[in-house]
Amino acid sequence: MARLKIVAWPESVLLTPAEPVTKFDDKLKKLVEDMFETMYAAPGVGLAGTQVAIAKRMFVMDCTGGKDPSRRFFMANPEIILKEGKQDGDEGCLSIPGIYSKVQRSMHVIARGQDVNGKEYQIEGTELEARCLQHETDHCDGFLYINRISPLKRELVLRKVRKLQKTGEWPS
Ligand SMILES: [Zn+2]
Repeated sequence: MARLKIVAWPESVLLTPAEPVTKFDDKLKKLVEDMFETMYAAPGVGLAGTQVAIAKRMFVMDCTGGKDPSRRFFMANPEIILKEGKQDGDEGCLSIPGIYSKVQRSMHVIARGQDVNGKEYQIEGTELEARCLQHETDHCDGFLYINRISPLKRELVLRKVRKLQKTGEWPS
């Protein structure tokens, strides 16, 4: 397994809708293992293909930090097919490292997509898992959490980013 480089805002791959995953081959399986390794090492609870500069609709996620293998997911071509309730909470992103903002999300969601063999399945998540499913599916569409907050809050986040860019502390 190898750790991949996580790209940071405003890399264009993060801001562009990704292409569907169509090949479920050994190359994909290896990439998925590398994505898990990269996510756990970060550490993070989710990582999308676009965040490692691969413009494909897919993500890995594990909100248990490796403690519950049954909640370790890879999903290709995700689609949120059910959204219920609301939650407010701080949200971060490995591509906007170290900065958090309150983001309103649905409390309970079902995502539909494909596993590493191309087989269709669904993930049902609440609270953090629901937040993560929405965040990662957004990545596949070229959206970041800063697209889901008010212009004022977005400006606060971007001001922090610009400050870090100026001092050379922002990943490039
Ligand atoms: Zn993210």
